[in-house]
Amino acid sequence: MFDTIIIGGGASGLASAVMLKKISADLKVAVVEQFDRVGKKISVTGNGRCNISNTNIKKSNYHSNDLNKAFEILKDFDLQKTAEFFSSIGVELAFEGNKAYPRSFQASSVVDALRFAATNLKVDIIAGTTVQKVTKSNNSFILKTNNNTLTAKTVIVATGGLAGGSKLGSNGDGYKFLKSFGHKIIEEKPVIVQVKTENTLTKILKGIKVNAKVSVINSNKTLATDSGEVLFCDYGLSGPPILQLSRFAKKGTEISLDIFSDIEFNNLVDLIMKRKQIFSSLPLTEFFAGLIHKKLGQAILKDADISLNNNADALTKTDCINIAATLKNFRFKVLGNTGFVNAQATSGGADLNDFDDNLMSKKTAGLFATGEVLDVDGDCGGYNLQWAWSSAYRVANAVSCYIQE
Ligand SMILES: Cc1cc2nc3c(=O)[nH]c(=O)nc-3n(C[C@H](O)[C@H](O)[C@H](O)COP(=O)(O)OP(=O)(O)OC[C@H]3O[C@@H](n4cnc5c(N)ncnc54)[C@H](O)[C@@H]3O)c2cc1C
Repeated sequence: MFDTIIIGGGASGLASAVMLKKISADLKVAVVEQFDRVGKKISVTGNGRCNISNTNIKKSNYHSNDLNKAFEILKDFDLQKTAEFFSSIGVELAFEGNKAYPRSFQASSVVDALRFAATNLKVDIIAGTTVQKVTKSNNSFILKTNNNTLTAKTVIVATGGLAGGSKLGSNGDGYKFLKSFGHKIIEEKPVIVQVKTENTLTKILKGIKVNAKVSVINSNKTLATDSGEVLFCDYGLSGPPILQLSRFAKKGTEISLDIFSDIEFNNLVDLIMKRKQIFSSLPLTEFFAGLIHKKLGQAILKDADISLNNNADALTKTDCINIAATLKNFRFKVLGNTGFVNAQATSGGADLNDFDDNLMSKKTAGLFATGEVLDVDGDCGGYNLQWAWSSAYRVANAVSCYIQE
């Protein structure tokens, strides 16, 4: 019988195994992972560079039905403690702006370090084994897997959410296990995900990037804004600010791009009027040369209902005002998003109200959960992995105390 079986060899599962063995070296700890190797998802995070954390962690970067409980856990194991933990297993951090990465900028090195530390600390890594069912009887947990039956005094559900899809191990098994113990699962939704839009212009603009201030708008009310590089795709919009705002971009809302957020509207109209003089004898297809991408300029003219067949001198003052208005408010009707397979995080999940402050189930003593399976998700920028590390630390301490008691 194991003291603890951790279901899932991902970010929070591996971290909690290492942390637990560092606290209580004598405990018999196993990590059960369905894939042949642990840490598959970690190795693709941050475009293969693993954005491990962030220097600017605020409550407002997180989303949960019980944000206070989640943020206490995040405050308790902050960036400094995260850096110390990773340094203790051989990973030093480097920073790009607020974002923390392993100094190697290789996500695979984070997996290697966690795996190496776990093996060194004599954690049993049972890979290629899928947990199918978890029950409890006579104070011990029974885990039925595809290969065998395992028993443990405590269980940590670290199976992650649904983001990334089953190829990254996210098939929602953890919800099933927790549900079977009476836990409430708050509806899961994909977040940090590309947005599908109605505007067919994105198809023509596919592959083009533009810096913009992005707003999500619902019935003329701005729900949220962010700035950065937007990427046009055949299905709609992507790029950092789009991913960041995707939680607000529901069907029926609109996305507005302000491509000239640094220039006031009247000054932009003046700029367009000036260009009318410079390019007077040229067709409007050339009008935006040197200002924005040529194809984007043509799409803006289409959206502003201005014929591309004329020369620039045909533009009226009203046309110039319309062009400026479109440049500052290029609108896209939201149809939805590209789904869990393309998402980086899951909003919703196992309700934190069913867990105590140590993330032990209020329904079943000895049952714990960490990471994305819980109803906590963070913004894009290292916040989700920070939740994985912080929740792992809280649970590692709690399991050690629980077993000793
Ligand atoms: C493409 C992508 C990029 C990302 N980039 C970043 C980033 O740069 N920074 C950041 O902060 N966050 C990032 N995230 C989010 C981050 O990876 C997750 O929030 C984090 O990995 C969650 O950790 P976890 O331990 O809860 O789950 P996971 O890391 O998903 O691990 C869960 C593990 O459990 C295993 N498992 C599931 N069910 C079973 C079962 N029944 N039996 C056995 N094993 C099972 C899975 O195979 C998996 O290995 C990214 C996500 C994606 C998809």
